[in-house]
Amino acid sequence: MRVLSPESFDFVIIGAGTAGCVLANRLSERPDVTVCLIEAGDRDTYPLIRVPAAVAFTILNPKLAWGFTTVPQPHCSDRRVVLPRGRVLGGSSSTNGMVYIRGHPGDYDDWAAAGARGWSYADVLPYYLRSEHNPSLAGSPYHHVGGPMAVTDIPRVNPLVTSFLESARSLGLKSCTDFNGADPEGFGLRQASIRNGRRESGVTAFLRPVERRPNLKVIVNALVDRVLLEQRRAIGVRFERDGESSTILARREVILSAGSYGSPALLLRSGIGAPECLKSVGVQPTHALTGVGQGLRDHPAAEIQMITQDTTSYGLSARKTLANALTLLQYLTLRSGSIASNLFEAHGFVKSDPMLPRPDLQIIMVPARRSEKPLAIPRGHGYGIISALVRPKSFGHIRIASPDPRERPLIDLNLLAEYDDIARIRTGLRLARRILNGKAFDRYRATELKPGASADADQQLEEHIRRTCVTVHHPTSSCRMGTDPAAVVDPELRVHGIEALRVVDASICPTLPAGNTNAIVVMIAEKASDLIRGLPAPAPVQLPHAS
Ligand SMILES: Cc1cc2nc3c(=O)[nH]c(=O)nc-3n(C[C@H](O)[C@H](O)[C@H](O)COP(=O)(O)OP(=O)(O)OC[C@H]3O[C@@H](n4cnc5c(N)ncnc54)[C@H](O)[C@@H]3O)c2cc1C
Repeated sequence: MRVLSPESFDFVIIGAGTAGCVLANRLSERPDVTVCLIEAGDRDTYPLIRVPAAVAFTILNPKLAWGFTTVPQPHCSDRRVVLPRGRVLGGSSSTNGMVYIRGHPGDYDDWAAAGARGWSYADVLPYYLRSEHNPSLAGSPYHHVGGPMAVTDIPRVNPLVTSFLESARSLGLKSCTDFNGADPEGFGLRQASIRNGRRESGVTAFLRPVERRPNLKVIVNALVDRVLLEQRRAIGVRFERDGESSTILARREVILSAGSYGSPALLLRSGIGAPECLKSVGVQPTHALTGVGQGLRDHPAAEIQMITQDTTSYGLSARKTLANALTLLQYLTLRSGSIASNLFEAHGFVKSDPMLPRPDLQIIMVPARRSEKPLAIPRGHGYGIISALVRPKSFGHIRIASPDPRERPLIDLNLLAEYDDIARIRTGLRLARRILNGKAFDRYRATELKPGASADADQQLEEHIRRTCVTVHHPTSSCRMGTDPAAVVDPELRVHGIEALRVVDASICPTLPAGNTNAIVVMIAEKASDLIRGLPAPAPVQLPHAS
């Protein structure tokens, strides 16, 4: 029998999610450099992925998602909180809500001050610009036209969203016209990663345009089991595909882009982590790095939900059949109208306490009645406002239960462990109620479904938060960047103590940014691609307030 020697590439990237797609594009720009991108999920052919308003069909779809939950959360009524993550080409960028937000400029200056040299706002802004194609904000120094990823205004906003903004204004709350400019505080419309009425994912923006390059190989349906190490150097990976185990070698580097749950799990299965924890699950330690999987955090959130007979909200009902049919026709013929919207069209960044230096709450308008079941179109009508805490104090960790890559990791976000997190979400819910009770909403004749208008005491709202708290799907920091002993990667994203191994994805964020994380991961991967290729940092952007 002929034994085939393993294929080898210069770079082997694990995970074709947001970061993996950017890296595959940038690293294969030079034709003499070979790149292999390995993804556990399938190709992104499921047709509803492309349709922005069909996001409810992607988020928890078992064909497209990992099906993770937390371990029971003691501060959330012992519930297992559902944690959607994309398992498909494009990763979570193929299943997410498409909102385009970069976080607060000060977040990056904090990163740099804490040891992440080269990651201040001035350092990262050029990478945001490089990835972006944003004709609506052409001319702004914070935006760019001509990058690979389309960012657009929402083509048509629901009238409930207009009422939301009107009501916030009538309460004297600040407005914001660009959440990705100098000061992302206040209420306004969001932009989204949508191109001509279709989802703009990591695949459509970065991978598909270059997939025919002969020096780039993409392997799908391949579950990477572990990184192969020789002494203290990563030399390749082992993966399973069609029931068979295979190896691929990396001449220059292995890059983990498996996301905030996948990357730490891979390091741990490879024996890189806290030795005692590894031994307790049957993994032979290869390199002691106690920070792997620690510091995991996400944005916790709770919602005020309204119910109404009025048919303005997105959703299905007998009385809205004709209007919905026309909307569908409009989308099919022109790719416009409300099906070209990602539904989450407006929000406000606010401070739970005016003394805070930066906003810590994201108050998000939901112009649809929530379905209790996943993968269901909202039936009936209603709307709500989410109070999401973008600077939570609670954080947790991720561990593996065994060396088997098919076994789900043990994810403990430790949600609401700090009482202060509950108090601030509650402040946001009270603000949400004031907005919903404003005159601008009178015409919809709605009643509060959850928690119910009479539930206003601190204790009642606290119970509502504990019973219903979810995350808004932005896990970070489980392979934290830094120079202290608990950091997992250095400011060039190299795993401390191991050669030829980097982590490039949401897991490297030193702290959780105050905003949705997809654009942030695109920026991380853009910058990482320059670090990996040894390219000089781009020139700083000239900003109006810069001295
Ligand atoms: C439901 C949902 C809604 C969201 N909404 C928004 C939003 O509106 N705006 C926003 O900015 N952000 C949003 N986010 C967050 C954003 O999408 C993520 O932060 C971002 O996609 C993370 O990128 P990543 O590269 O770190 O990980 P991912 O994109 O998750 O990619 C990781 C990839 O690695 C693969 N992988 C993992 N383990 C292995 C393995 N062992 N072998 C092979 N492959 C593996 C996965 O299948 C996946 O494809 C949302 C996320 C979700 C899940």
